[in-house]
Amino acid sequence: MVVVISGPSGVGKTSVVKRLLEDKRFVLSVSATTRAPRRGERNGVDYYFVSEDEFKRMVERGELLEWAVVFGHHYGTPKSELERASDESKILILDVDVQGVEQLRAKNLEGVYIQIRPPDEEELRRRLKGRKTESETELQMRLKKAAYELSRKELFDHFVVNDILDKAVARIKNIIENAFKEKKNGPCKGSLKNRKTE
Ligand code: ADP
Ligand code: 5GP
Repeated sequence: MVVVISGPSGVGKTSVVKRLLEDKRFVLSVSATTRAPRRGERNGVDYYFVSEDEFKRMVERGELLEWAVVFGHHYGTPKSELERASDESKILILDVDVQGVEQLRAKNLEGVYIQIRPPDEEELRRRLKGRKTESETELQMRLKKAAYELSRKELFDHFVVNDILDKAVARIKNIIENAFKEKKNGPCKGSLKNRKTE
């Protein structure tokens, strides 16, 4: 069982995931990407930074569990990340866009699917701008996609508004713990029902 985290760019997924990873029960699924590293990002830790050719080879060799083109770059989850987490007996956290979530759902990957939502559009814009990692054009592209991503509610079991980071992280941990308790207590029944924002 895995934890799938998704949400618009700038909503705070990386910040949330970093906090979750302080809990040693969790491990991050390190994606392959063709985008350039941002300041401070490390190869093999934040992403596997690969060339277009290398990414293409990974696809051809069937090494990716899912992959998509997001904001003009390729991103994909290596299947080996699932094995690594399983070997280490850890809970794997995947941070993927909606196309990735669609593919994981189509594969019936068992997990808890959480969408992180911004308090409002203005705050999302403020956070993205404040991060200062994208050009104005890239920023517009990310904001344009946000509305579409937020409309794909059917893909998720839980919704968490990232208002105050501490609170959002606590809600997410609570969701994960409950999902694991449910799993232990019997088969996962219709987790898509009774969806609510926490
Ligand atoms: P994502 O990974 O979803 O693109 P980031 O984690 O990079 O988003 O966060 C985008 C920006 O918003 C960062 O500058 C981060 O420090 C800030 N941020 C994240 N969560 C919050 C929050 N709850 N309140 C205010 N700022 C936040
Ligand atoms: P960023 O460039 O800001 O790190 O990520 C951009 C988008 O790509 C985010 O929405 C993030 O969730 C998504 N992403 C990161 N890794 C993957 C992946 O392996 N697969 C898919 N489908 N999306 C990913």
